[in-house]
Amino acid sequence: MNSQEYDVVIIGGGIIGLSTAMQLARRFPQGGKVAVLEKEKELAMHQTGHNSGVIHSGIYYRPGSQKSRFCVGGAQALVQFCEENEIEFEKCGKTIVATDATELERLDTLYQRGVANGVAGLELIGPERLQEIEPHTQGVRALWSPETGIIDYVKVAAAYGSRFQEYGGDIYNEAAVRAIHGFSGAMTVETDRGSLRAKHIINCAGLYADRVAEMMGEATGVRIIPFRGEYYTLRPESQRLVKGLIYPVPDPRFPFLGVHYTRNIHGYVEAGPNAVLAFAREGYRKSNVDLTESLGTFTYPGFWKMTAKHWRTGMAEMHRSYRKQVFVHDLQKLIPEIKETDLAPGGAGVRAQAVAADGALLDDFSILRGQQAIHVLNAPSPGATSSLAIGAHIVDLAVESFALAS
Ligand SMILES: Cc1cc2nc3c(=O)[nH]c(=O)nc-3n(C[C@H](O)[C@H](O)[C@H](O)COP(=O)(O)OP(=O)(O)OC[C@H]3O[C@@H](n4cnc5c(N)ncnc54)[C@H](O)[C@@H]3O)c2cc1C
Repeated sequence: MNSQEYDVVIIGGGIIGLSTAMQLARRFPQGGKVAVLEKEKELAMHQTGHNSGVIHSGIYYRPGSQKSRFCVGGAQALVQFCEENEIEFEKCGKTIVATDATELERLDTLYQRGVANGVAGLELIGPERLQEIEPHTQGVRALWSPETGIIDYVKVAAAYGSRFQEYGGDIYNEAAVRAIHGFSGAMTVETDRGSLRAKHIINCAGLYADRVAEMMGEATGVRIIPFRGEYYTLRPESQRLVKGLIYPVPDPRFPFLGVHYTRNIHGYVEAGPNAVLAFAREGYRKSNVDLTESLGTFTYPGFWKMTAKHWRTGMAEMHRSYRKQVFVHDLQKLIPEIKETDLAPGGAGVRAQAVAADGALLDDFSILRGQQAIHVLNAPSPGATSSLAIGAHIVDLAVESFALAS
């Protein structure tokens, strides 16, 4: 990289950094003026490479929120991108299942939200229709979303990266950003591979987005708290129990969707993810503990305020994480015939969830605009579905704030 100078440096080679890079380089065809810095050997190794692979349709999110707009628009743009770029996806459809009468009101609210958000094809269905769609699932009522799909987001991110390079952009892997200096004129960005100069920075560092913002002296008012989502995989002989995507009615106090079944694009079925506090930002296993990062969590007043509000749910999630039979018990609410022996250990992902100083879990996407930088501080699910819409929004912000000339 040899102190090369770029108009824009994007930190983070996940799906959001790469979508932004591709769209920025397309809008400014001289290319070469934009670089992506990624700390890993390969792109998309963190949230983008450890998710459920669902193309969400936009049901859950408060009408008018960025999540609702970017998810609905982003899903359409994603499908078009995949058709143009021959990336496999499938609209397998999804059911959100009320398993008893206490969930009916919340199911109805979800239906109304989905309709308000413009989600196509939504239908409230009774037990008979549910049995036709998912023969092994039991519920008193369900919300059927035929437009929900499945995809491999690592392939999507790789395609964004390739298009970006075709437009003349540069990608540097194994280039962890360690420090950023000089905040007037071009900044110096120090990485594991040397330094480069950047007139502007777009921070898409996912689990480390707050840290990168701090390197630039930005007071973000949030801290990223890592929540691990653990999965089981259904054994091959049990996969017949799930045809598409089967979700519970979520607890509206949390931004997580509850443990569910997902058939993925590679054909196997996963059950999960739960949401447990991780003791390292990239803590994919229970045994991964990073003392400095844990200290960062435990010395943050917002963490304790969050814990004071939600400790019961947190403890229940921990309990379920350590006791397979509890996990299975929750899964049996949706598919009564599922047994412990149907489930083999699966993978895990870690969500970058921004928590405010008052302990609130940020519900919407959060993209902060500074003078020389834009920081993506909260982009959890449905961030992958929304990646093209989020990228387009960031490019608009960049054009305005950075006064870029095409
Ligand atoms: C368990 C789980 C399930 C999910 N399921 C879905 C789903 O089904 N559908 C959906 O739409 N969304 C889902 N999501 C959300 C989705 O995965 C994220 O919204 C999306 O991947 C965020 O992309 P990103 O680019 O912001 O982050 P990431 O993919 O995490 O990318 C950030 C990148 O920044 C790099 N980086 C960090 N620090 C530095 C540094 N200092 N220098 C250089 N590089 C750095 C990292 O290595 C990483 O590659 C899920 C997430 C999880 C965790």
